[in-house]
Amino acid sequence: MPSAWLSLLIRLLAAVLAGLTSGFILGAVAGVAAAAGLLLLMLLAHTAQLARLQRWLKAPDERDIPDARGVWGSVFVELHRLLRRERKVRARIEAELEVFSQAAEASPDGLVFLDIDDHIVWCNRVAEQHLGLRGERDSGLLVTNLIRLPRFAEFLANAREGESLSYRPAERKGRVFSIEAIRFGKDRKLLISSDVSHIERAETMRRDFVANVSHELRTPLTVISGFIEHMADDPAPDPAEWKQQMAMVDEQAGRMLNLVDDLLTLSRLEDETQMPREEEFDVRDLIYDVSAEGRRLSAGRHSITCEVVPAFLKGSREELRSAFANLVSNAVRYTPAGGRIVLHWAMRDGKGVFSVEDSGIGIPEEHLPRLTERFYRVDRGRSRESGGTGLGLSIVKHILLRHQAALDIGSVAATGSTFSAVFPAWRVKLPMA
Ligand code: ADP
Repeated sequence: MPSAWLSLLIRLLAAVLAGLTSGFILGAVAGVAAAAGLLLLMLLAHTAQLARLQRWLKAPDERDIPDARGVWGSVFVELHRLLRRERKVRARIEAELEVFSQAAEASPDGLVFLDIDDHIVWCNRVAEQHLGLRGERDSGLLVTNLIRLPRFAEFLANAREGESLSYRPAERKGRVFSIEAIRFGKDRKLLISSDVSHIERAETMRRDFVANVSHELRTPLTVISGFIEHMADDPAPDPAEWKQQMAMVDEQAGRMLNLVDDLLTLSRLEDETQMPREEEFDVRDLIYDVSAEGRRLSAGRHSITCEVVPAFLKGSREELRSAFANLVSNAVRYTPAGGRIVLHWAMRDGKGVFSVEDSGIGIPEEHLPRLTERFYRVDRGRSRESGGTGLGLSIVKHILLRHQAALDIGSVAATGSTFSAVFPAWRVKLPMA
């Protein structure tokens, strides 16, 4: 038995003993009165401590736990211990909760915790951005009143695994979020939102691309099948007409071949596992090569000159030759006869810049940002007429990206254009002076 209880027992016994002794000496009445007086004093003392305990329980504060001796002392010490233990447990739970909420905040997905009646308990910042919620303001509100989607309430009620709902906020055009509802615990739910705008964009691009390729192939195929039909109807045509038709078929077949070649080149360039070769080559040689190619294509219709300083470039010579040749071919195709084309290589702020300047038809400003998109053409007819596939600048952009270079386009309609490939300094080496 703890000593406090022993001393209480001894005190009770002492009171009884004092009563008995007084009774023995002073008579029975005096004895009972003495015992009762002593017990009353003890009762008063305990009542006072009980009152202190009750007062404290109304506003428990560890700092002013009552202080006493004896049984009450040990009760208050136990209370102290209990409170300390509880404080430690609370601190541990708070720390763990903090880690959980930090993890939930770090999630790239939006998270919304709902109670059993679909009221918002908590949501992270990503969910606020995705679903237009405000954690503090909306906590306790019914989520179906805040996320206004036609089938949302039904979706939430069923909350089936693997099922998701697309959310396209009217005020944020082009943004699409996917929402999933997951049950956990005792009929609680967790909403997970993710930004799927890029997937939708990629899907739209894929669809446009397939439609564009089909459209591009359709025109030459129609010409060729028309020719075959014509031949079937008239197997022995006039030789002059035959020659003319054959030239047309040849041209259309060539167009299809160019398109397929460009598509294959693009898909090869898009393969990120295939890095470009890293070889060092003389830029001047390369530019002289592509200018000769440009002259062949121009067949004397333009003046084509080079203004180059000696330098070496690091990268895939074959890929860069194809990019430079594409820019030169465009300059030739979009510059009327008699025009001037200059191929430059210069150093600008430590960077190496290859540019093709022409005095051609130029490009109205509003088209400039979209020129490198696949199949984007300012003038579809003119591009086709000159054998263009609409993929040239996409190929150029990809090749330059693979070499950490940028494509700058400057153009004034009816005056001319300058297409520049800007290479980072570490790809350029200048010859020793
Ligand atoms: P295309 O095969 O049609 O030439 P590109 O991708 O090479 O395709 O070019 C896209 C479009 O950019 C062209 O259709 C043309 O309208 C415009 N363009 C490209 N280079 C020039 C240039 N040097 N001068 C004027 N327009 C150009």
